[in-house]
Formats: sequence, structure tokens, C-alpha cells
Amino acid sequence: MYRKYVTEKASEKLKQTMRMNAHTGIRIEELYPNVEKIEIHHVRDHTSFCGSSHNEGTWTITPQSEVFFLIECLNRECTSAGFNLRSVISSAIHSRMTDLSGEMRCEGQEAPDHPEQSCDGHLKYTIKISYRQQM
Ligand SMILES: [Zn+2]
Repeated sequence: MYRKYVTEKASEKLKQTMRMNAHTGIRIEELYPNVEKIEIHHVRDHTSFCGSSHNEGTWTITPQSEVFFLIECLNRECTSAGFNLRSVISSAIHSRMTDLSGEMRCEGQEAPDHPEQSCDGHLKYTIKISYRQQM
């Protein structure tokens, strides 16, 4: 099946803007001074008629890292900016959780020219948060 990626450029621009909006420009140590390290293990899957893709990896965040927890959807044409773990992580830090895991479904559409079809992108995450010793 042949698809023309006519809308890709416009979509990329929109995605870039959405990603920019996910940036905070604030470092972890400024917002969460008690956090020593955050490790995000992520497993992403996406299946469409073009085939399926799978990716996993670990993202290590240190006090000097930016408060930015956006993981891109594996679907190249997806209309969403990706999976934003910011609210999950910030509420975990507020309740001083050290281990958490969960899943997220992509909220985007399969492609800009397929608005009726929601994206199949999926994220499974395991997050470990270490805190500094209180003085
Ligand atoms: Zn997606």
C-alpha cells in the first residue's frame, strides 16, 4: 500500500512546537532539590498496517537534567508529541515514591491524513527515583 507523506512537514512542525512546549528550562535540582536520580526504563511498541516496531531503553535523569520527561511515540507519523511522564513523575516525587510502573496509550492519531484512526503507540514504563539523604 502506497502512502504519500504530503502532510508530514506540517505535522513535524506542529510536533516540534508541542515538544518545545513540554520543555520547562528548569533543572531537576531547582524544582526537586531532594531528588538524586531518576531512571526511566521505557518499552515502546507501535503496530500499524506498515508493520510493527519495538524499542526499549533506559533514560537516566540527574539533578542537572532538565525537567523534561517526554518520550516520543514510535509511530513516525503520529500526531502527538509523545508520552509525557511529567505529571506521573511529579506526583511520585511529591509522595516520595521510589518505584513505580505503568502504561500509557498514545493520544495521537495514526497519521495527519488519518484523523479517524487513533495511534496504536504504547508505552510501558518502570521508574526508579532516588532521593538525597535529608540532613
Ligand atoms: Zn502515537
